[in-house]
Amino acid sequence: MRQIAIYGKGGIGKSTTTQNLTAALAEMGKKIMIVGCDPKADSTRLVLGGLAQKTVLDTLREEGDDIDLDAILKPGYGGIMCVESGGPEPGVGCAGRGIITAIGMLEQLGAYTPDLDYVFYDVLGDVVCGGFAMPMREGKAQEIYIVASGEMMALYAANNISKGIMKYATSGGVRLGGIICNSRNVDKEIDLLQAFAEELGSQLIYFVPRDNMVQRAEIHKKSVIEFDPTANQADEYRALAKAIDQNKMFVIPKPMSQERLMEFGLMDL
Ligand code: ADP
Ligand code: MG
Repeated sequence: MRQIAIYGKGGIGKSTTTQNLTAALAEMGKKIMIVGCDPKADSTRLVLGGLAQKTVLDTLREEGDDIDLDAILKPGYGGIMCVESGGPEPGVGCAGRGIITAIGMLEQLGAYTPDLDYVFYDVLGDVVCGGFAMPMREGKAQEIYIVASGEMMALYAANNISKGIMKYATSGGVRLGGIICNSRNVDKEIDLLQAFAEELGSQLIYFVPRDNMVQRAEIHKKSVIEFDPTANQADEYRALAKAIDQNKMFVIPKPMSQERLMEFGLMDL
């Protein structure tokens, strides 16, 4: 079982990419569980067809500690098992707690069955809070992919996340598997991301183009893979799935200094 965490700044496309990627892996016959680790709780809606998945935290709040696995774990497209951790009310408590509680509950209730090929954690933002580092800190996720684009804030977040990975890689086994570029149509974006990934000692594992097909599928509460399996964008996600399935490059990243990162943003490629 490969346990993979997808990190990246808010709005960069972690949830969209994770769900399309897992849908493509499911098509390849893989058994998958997605654990949404964002208080927004929208990590699984394209796999579940918009079906509101009650979060682990809400379920515990409403039903107490004695809950059944099927109250928090729902099967979706291609048999993908879906969980949403949930979070506290805005401004109250630590959002990372939801992740810790959810993973603990999943373990206790036996959700990590041996037939699973992949567990994906879709994790909010950059690693500024210890709670969000939990999937890698506790050695749950061994493999990290960072979703980024050619925009400076996305690179800034990706560099910060690399700092987090480096910190936990020395005590545990977590490694960076690569950078996924979710394109924002920035000039020379592939070159920039390739250079960025190399500077970290990693790789640009795939370049996902920006395509309105993603929105079209989203309106129908579906992944592109499910909504239109013949679309070009579906093939892009299949190629990403294949690249991850066959990936052999796992590194301890070498994050950049603030100064180097700034130079990088201004670099003329
Ligand atoms: P995150 O999970 O990182 O916060 P989302 O996956 O929710 O980000 O993505 C934000 C929005 O960006 C989505 O609503 C989706 O419509 C859009 N999006 C993501 N990837 C693409 C893409 N490759 N092409 C077009 N739109 C995209
Ligand atoms: Mg998300």
